[in-house]
Amino acid sequence: MTSLRTRERLVQRLMDQGVSDYKVLDVIRSTPRHLFLDEALSHRAYEDSALPIGYGQTLSQPYIVARMTEILLAASGGKLKRVLEVGTGSGYQTAVLAQLVEQVFSVERIKPLQDKARQRLRDLGLRNVQLNHADGGFGWPSMGPFDAILSTAAPQFVPEELKQQLAPNGVLVIPVGGHAQSLQLIVRDGESDKFMTQELEPVKFVPLLSGTTR
Ligand code: SAH
Repeated sequence: MTSLRTRERLVQRLMDQGVSDYKVLDVIRSTPRHLFLDEALSHRAYEDSALPIGYGQTLSQPYIVARMTEILLAASGGKLKRVLEVGTGSGYQTAVLAQLVEQVFSVERIKPLQDKARQRLRDLGLRNVQLNHADGGFGWPSMGPFDAILSTAAPQFVPEELKQQLAPNGVLVIPVGGHAQSLQLIVRDGESDKFMTQELEPVKFVPLLSGTTR
């Protein structure tokens, strides 16, 4: 179930769907997604589907994790230093990012999910990650600015705070909308307060909610 062949098949599927960044594919190949799920679901870890992680939340589909990660890397062209993730969830996307950029900051509003993610990331020896229990709609102001921000929960409108926490030429990848969502790529124009927005593809994410839970 967790054999290399099963993961290889997943990577092949992602390539068939157009994911082409080898660095990203390599990381997907080597990251044990089954460790980010409860045991009862771990046998489904290498299917290309979103899976429940409790509290009404889901671990995103591998395709979308791979796609968002490669968009982030391509749009920022070069080595990313500080990256913010909104919505730690299981910590899987966090783990993928941690293997491709210098430092990952990730914010989650549901405390028990954050606690589990922290343990998994520690078990995998990923030390370049800092987690925060907070409403990620406000970003993580004291740690910004960020070279890139990736949101794995969808707001109705792009929060101004996230845009403002982008470094010069910083990149924000975020699903936006309610019933119908689209993945947006927002790039800060140099050091200015101008942002270029591109709509990429239709997606389906859990909503970005306000506030935090214990
Ligand atoms: N990246 C996650 C995806 C989890 S689903 C993974 O790979 O497993 C999105 C997550 O966003 C959920 O855990 C949800 O609780 C969280 N979330 C929703 N609104 C949020 C907010 N305002 N601040 C922080 N996290 C939020």
